[in-house]
Amino acid sequence: MSDQVTVDADIETVSCSGGADDLGHPTVYYNFGEKLEVVCGYCGKKFIKKDNHE
Ligand SMILES: [Zn+2]
Repeated sequence: MSDQVTVDADIETVSCSGGADDLGHPTVYYNFGEKLEVVCGYCGKKFIKKDNHE
C-alpha cells in the first residue's frame, strides 16, 4: 500500500512513521536535498513538493 503526501515547497525534511498505529514503523526522516520527491523506504509513502508555479 502506498500513499502520497504533498508538502510545502519550502519544506526541507519530512518525517514518516507509517501513519497508522499498528501498521507504522520507526520514525524516519528524509531530506529532499535537490529532489522534488522522496519515497519512504519502509512504507513506500511518497512525499511530493508542492509546485510553486500554477
Ligand atoms: Zn513511511
